[in-house]
Formats: sequence, structure tokens, C-alpha cells
Amino acid sequence: MERFDLVVIGAGPSGYAAAMRAIDFKKKTLLIEKSEVGGAGVTNGALSSKTWWELSREASAFRKSLKRYNIRAPHINYKEIQSEVRKAVLERKSMLKEHMEALNGSNYSSYLQFAAGTAHLLTPNEIEIVHNSRSSKVWADNIILATGSRPRYLPELPIDEKIVMTSDGIESMEDFPESMVIVGAGVIGCEFATIFSGFGRTKVHLIDKGDRILPFEDADVVRIIERNMENNGVLIHRNSRLIGMKIVNHRVEYELEYNDGSRELFNVEKALVSVGRTANYEDLWDDKVGIGISKRGIENDDTQTNVPNIYAVGDLTADISLVNVGELEGRYAVEKIFGKPSRKLVYENISTIMFLSPEVAGVGLNETQAREQKIDYKVVTLEYSTIPRAIAKRNTQGFIKLLVTNDDEMKILGMKVVGNNASSAIQAVAVLISMDKGIEELAECVHPHPSITEGIQECVRMLMGKSLFKPTALRGRLSCRRSVNGVYEDIVF
Ligand SMILES: Cc1cc2nc3c(=O)[nH]c(=O)nc-3n(C[C@H](O)[C@H](O)[C@H](O)COP(=O)(O)OP(=O)(O)OC[C@H]3O[C@@H](n4cnc5c(N)ncnc54)[C@H](O)[C@@H]3O)c2cc1C
Repeated sequence: MERFDLVVIGAGPSGYAAAMRAIDFKKKTLLIEKSEVGGAGVTNGALSSKTWWELSREASAFRKSLKRYNIRAPHINYKEIQSEVRKAVLERKSMLKEHMEALNGSNYSSYLQFAAGTAHLLTPNEIEIVHNSRSSKVWADNIILATGSRPRYLPELPIDEKIVMTSDGIESMEDFPESMVIVGAGVIGCEFATIFSGFGRTKVHLIDKGDRILPFEDADVVRIIERNMENNGVLIHRNSRLIGMKIVNHRVEYELEYNDGSRELFNVEKALVSVGRTANYEDLWDDKVGIGISKRGIENDDTQTNVPNIYAVGDLTADISLVNVGELEGRYAVEKIFGKPSRKLVYENISTIMFLSPEVAGVGLNETQAREQKIDYKVVTLEYSTIPRAIAKRNTQGFIKLLVTNDDEMKILGMKVVGNNASSAIQAVAVLISMDKGIEELAECVHPHPSITEGIQECVRMLMGKSLFKPTALRGRLSCRRSVNGVYEDIVF
């Protein structure tokens, strides 16, 4: 039986990152994948959905530009768009594979091996790999489980991945449906609502249990997103509960019950069910391996399971399901096995982007979380309409919001940017938070002009009472307040 210092199961973002970090330590590593290298980070997931989003945003912007010049928008061909997405997926997958092959001819050649197949732990050190009905066994001193997650199925819904689909089926349709209902108004559901309404060929319905989409997000952020969705023709069923869904004559019939008890029946061409993900650990190990499972998933202490040489990372574990978090955990687990991680594994300051219209980028706490945690804070908001770059772009929709501690130190707690280029604007603050720095650094550095980051600088200067525009003069566009015990008061200098 061939022996390895480390066997990584699953070559999605977490497993791939773990394997690549292991060869830095010059450890003999085996990476096993049963399906597509890149996992949901590439196929039916992060990269593919972002390609759909980019193409949808481009199509929507193109339609608006043509209107400016009084030109009729051309027909958008679904197959063209789908083929572009497939090219993007193939490009990334090929790169990941080529990289592994090229490592063979490099100074890392004796460290990394790749095996196609489904892995199963027979003991805490022995792994069976089944590929095309052939089985082999390997020995691992250490194991990292990185088997990811899959869409959660609701048994009462007739999911067939053709008419009623999850994110695994949605990218394989034959054409844009003329109508589609999305069950679940979380991030992925809202991203697909943005994508399909953006192409302008699909009437999207979005089912929302509460009175607003994205319930974990601040109300001012959600207001813009909902307004844009509705302007793009999305029908948001608020305060509604799905009480039945059937496939009738190759279409979807669904019934809703509203909070007031009334009911309504709808008929659409397709449905997307987006109600969370389920960790992939069934059949991953024999009972005698003894990995502890709780209601929240695999029990682990900073990636290490209760079986000391077995680690679990990425979507498989119960924390945040994102590519960057999976990669962070994969690398961290390897450092814990073969060295000593230079930093603690912390989840508080992860930067996130929601690919909506407009995009929403954030880092650290939002106001909703700060209030839930009973933290007093100072908060400044600045509308994009005060930023020259946004004016030049002819798109001033959006705002920046910065939260700092309610003391003289004003440590950054979090930031949200809603609008064009939100994701690039967030980076400077993400770095400052991770360095545990206060805001002065941002106040004095000279940003390029015109740029969206100048808006962040102006936020910081507002907090210090030295901004160009004064919040007491431009009410509605700027605000500078503190929240104490959940109650706002203006900060006046
Ligand atoms: C529609 C959608 C959009 C998303 N958008 C974003 C985004 O914009 N940004 C972001 O950061 N994240 C996004 N995500 C989340 C992101 O894709 C996941 O968090 C990430 O892929 C998790 O990586 P992972 O390696 O833990 O798991 P996965 O990517 O699920 O990879 C696990 C791999 O393990 C393999 N495997 C499973 N069992 C076995 C076995 N027994 N033997 C061998 N191999 C096995 C699987 O085939 C798979 O390739 C999105 C997800 C979805 C579904």
C-alpha cells in the first residue's frame, strides 16, 4: 500500500489549496477527486454563476446604453451566453489541471500525486479509492476531508433538475425561461434573481418568508437591492410561505400562503430551489473511524476533528461557505499538521461580495450584527452622489457605510459598500481591520482621483470632524451618528 504524509479528499477550492500548501512543506501528498477539479468553486458554483452575473450585467448595461442612443436592443441568445459560461469554467478547470501536471516536471515533482476516484476511509489511516469499478488502497499519516457540499433538497418539492432545479441544474437549461420562481431569498437565490432579470428575457418571482429579502443584511442595503430588482420586473412575494409545488404539463404550479392567511396559485415555466446546502459526508468513512458529528455537522476544533490525524475544511464544516474561507481553512489545517500557523483562524473579518444589482461588498460587522451583539458604535454613511468618480460614471446609486467603535480610538468594526466597484473599494479597509488599525491611516493617505475609495476617505474624515462636505449641511446624502443602546444620535463637532 503506497504511503503518504497527507491525503486530501476533494479537489474543490479547500482541498486544492490544502494540497498546494502541503507541497510547500515538501510532504508527500495525494489529492483525490471523484468528479470535477475545482468543485463548486468552478462548476455550478462560484465561477460559473459569476460569469452568468458578469454577462447579465453587461447585457443590462448595454440595453441601457442603446436606449440613450435611441437604438433597439438586439435579441440575447441564451446558447451564446451559456457557451461563454462553459468556456470560463473550462478555462479555469484546465488551468488547475495543467498546474498539477506541470508540477510533475518541477522542483515539486516528488511531492504531489493526483487520483481520480471516490475516497472512503476504512480506518483513520487507510483510504479506499474507487474509480471506474476498480478499487485501490493507500495509507495516510494525515487526512484532510474537503468534500464540500451540495444543494439542499426539500423532499416535498418535485426537484428533477430540468423543470424544478437547484443551482446544480440551472445552468443546463435550453433557453431563457419566460418565467421562473425562485424559492429562497438568500444570497444565491437573490444572485440568480439578479442574473435572470438582468438579461431581460425572464419574469422572475422570488418567494420571501419575511417582509424583506436578505434578512441578515441592513435595511438600507436591502432597500436599494429590492428597488432595483422590482424595477427590473422581479415580483417579490413578501411574507409568503410556499405550501405546494407541482409539475403540471411541463410547467410549475405553486401555491403561496401569505401572513394574513390568504392563498394564491401561480404558474411559471421553471423553478429554482435555493434553500441552503448540505455537507457531503455520507459514506465518507466506516463507522469504526469514529469521526464525531453533531447537528451542525462535523465537530472540529480549528479544523481538527476528534480523530487527531483527521481534519475537515471548507463547505463540509458548519461555518461560512465561501471559496476564500475554504482556502483559508485548507491552508490552515496543513500548517497545523506540519508546522505552526502564523495566525489564528478567525472568521470575523472575512470580506464578502454579493453579486446583485448593484454589487454589495462588506467586511467585518454590519449594523444588524453590531446591534444583535449589543455593541455601541459610530457610523457614517456617504451616498455615491457625493463621489466624483460615481458622477463621472453616470451612476450615482449606492453608498458607503463605515462602523467604528464608539470611543476615541475608533477601531474599524466593519464596512459596507453598495454600488459600482464596491468590491475594489472594500480592500483597503479589509487590510486595516486585519491589522487591527484605527482610521487615521485612511484619513491621510492620498487616493487617486477620481476614485470610489475617495468616498471611504471622506467617511473617515467625517468621523474625525474634518471632511470636505459637512454631514449637518448635506443631510440625506451624508450622516455621522452614534448608536448607543440601539438608539441613534447625531455626532456634531
Ligand atoms: C451557485 C453558487 C454560487 C457561489 N458563489 C460564490 C461566490 O461568489 N464567492 C464565494 O466565495 N463562494 C461562492 N460559492 C460557494 C463556494 O462555491 C463554496 O464555498 C466552495 O466551492 C467550497 O469549496 P470546498 O472545496 O469546500 O467544496 P466543493 O467546492 O464542494 O468541493 C468539494 C469537492 O470534493 C469532491 N468530493 C466529494 N466527495 C468526495 C469523495 N468521497 N471522494 C473524492 N472527492 C469527493 C467533490 O466532487 C468536489 O469536487 C457559491 C456556491 C454556489 C453553489
